Amino acid sequence: MTELESVIGLEIHAELKTNTKIFCGCKNTFGEAPNSQICPVCMGLPGTLPRLNSKVCDFAVKMGHALNCRINKVSRMDRKNYFYPDLPKAYQISQSDIPICGKGSLDILVGEKIRTIGITRIHIEEDAGKLIHDADYRGTLCDLNRCGVPLIEIVTEPDLRSTEEVRVFLENIRSILRYIGISDCKMQEGSIRCDVNVSMHEKETPLGIRCELKNVNSFSAAVRGIEYEIKRQTAIIENNGHIERETRRWDDKKGISILMRNKENAQDYRFFPEPDLGTVILSDERIDSLKAEIPELPNQKIIRYVSEYGLNCSEAFLIADAPDKAELFEQCIVKSECLPRSAANRIVGEITKYLNDTGKSVWETKLTADELSKLCAAAEKGIVSSSGAKTVLAELIENGGKVEEIIERLGLAQNSDYEYLCKLADDVIANNQRSAEDFKNGKTNALSHLIGQAMKLSKGKADPQKVKEIILNKLKTEE
Ligand code: ADP
Ligand code: MG
Ligand code: ZN
Repeated sequence: MTELESVIGLEIHAELKTNTKIFCGCKNTFGEAPNSQICPVCMGLPGTLPRLNSKVCDFAVKMGHALNCRINKVSRMDRKNYFYPDLPKAYQISQSDIPICGKGSLDILVGEKIRTIGITRIHIEEDAGKLIHDADYRGTLCDLNRCGVPLIEIVTEPDLRSTEEVRVFLENIRSILRYIGISDCKMQEGSIRCDVNVSMHEKETPLGIRCELKNVNSFSAAVRGIEYEIKRQTAIIENNGHIERETRRWDDKKGISILMRNKENAQDYRFFPEPDLGTVILSDERIDSLKAEIPELPNQKIIRYVSEYGLNCSEAFLIADAPDKAELFEQCIVKSECLPRSAANRIVGEITKYLNDTGKSVWETKLTADELSKLCAAAEKGIVSSSGAKTVLAELIENGGKVEEIIERLGLAQNSDYEYLCKLADDVIANNQRSAEDFKNGKTNALSHLIGQAMKLSKGKADPQKVKEIILNKLKTEE
């Protein structure tokens, strides 16, 4: 049997950060007292009428543009009927046959390969409430605050082939949602969730039967759930069994998927057009003006950073993921005083660490692109040592100021004067004849001893790179 390949398709739900809910004027907020953000409309009381929040359409269209989707100028809302205690109306208003956004695609960089993942559609819908299983109360409580919170559902084609691709894809989607400002994507608040569809097949043959995993509440759970499904399905196929079309629930705590329903008892939602809402109509001007609001997106930046500046995929992601870091990096390069590589190293390294530790954005620090660029240039030219540069950077972040002035004030200037370094090298070689001989006899690590001595003699002020070159030259010419 040839090797099996996994095939994955995702259905991603993201909560939109509009001010109000999708069909009523209730506030769209998280973390309020249970059942305090509700009204007759979102409680689903009979006789109430929904009104569509136009911001929800704008946000969905923006995501459609970001994912190169065809935007449908006319779309429709439908009722998806099912009973569950967190859904008092007993139907969810969603979009079935005609979603607001049709086919699109997203290019992502996975390792060193650009992969184009097909987008099937994006539609708008309302969220349901939340059940709270309370141990003290020994029963289940219902909080309807989340009823009517606007969602977009992004459905992908079955184009993903590994958990690595899924991880990168989801990270890119999250990054894009944040860039275009339509969702906070706070995992811990459940504002982005997905269903994952997994099947196995032999390469170059038709796709296999898929299982759908529900209840996947984080990206890492998606990866774990898919890994589990791949193992489970592979074992069945290798034992000559058949995969059944199933919906399974992912239990992330136990790390297993459990059968919810199969083909025989598949749910029939009895979709029909929502009679209480009109068709959704978008003008060309509105569609175009929303397109004009889309900036260069993180997935595009990642691909550009790798091809133009030689960063690797994960460095590029770390910078492009956050608009503030991306802007700092790009402005720094525009100044062109320093190499993109050295700006990237500092952003990925010390700056990211500082931002993570403090929870601040770049703009909440005193650091400017101008000074970062100057600092990188100073380090490249050996004006300041690498440890000195770290001190200067910390100072720039905390207190701001000018690079030259900080180097001066903290006495961090590094001596790269050629004559001085030659004299230093001569002294070191003269005082360490043994190491010099060792080096000439092929013990290459004797060189680091000599450099160490030079640094000591110069009280750390000598440029280690230049000292190394000079010592090497001297030892070679002495041979
Ligand atoms: P449903 O409405 O039952 O969820 P859809 O046709 O809308 O079915 O498909 C939902 C998801 O299933 C999509 O993300 C799609 O990419 C994925 N999918 C379809 N076929 C396969 C397959 N053979 N293997 C893995 N995923 C698949
Ligand atoms: Mg589905
Ligand atoms: Zn309401």
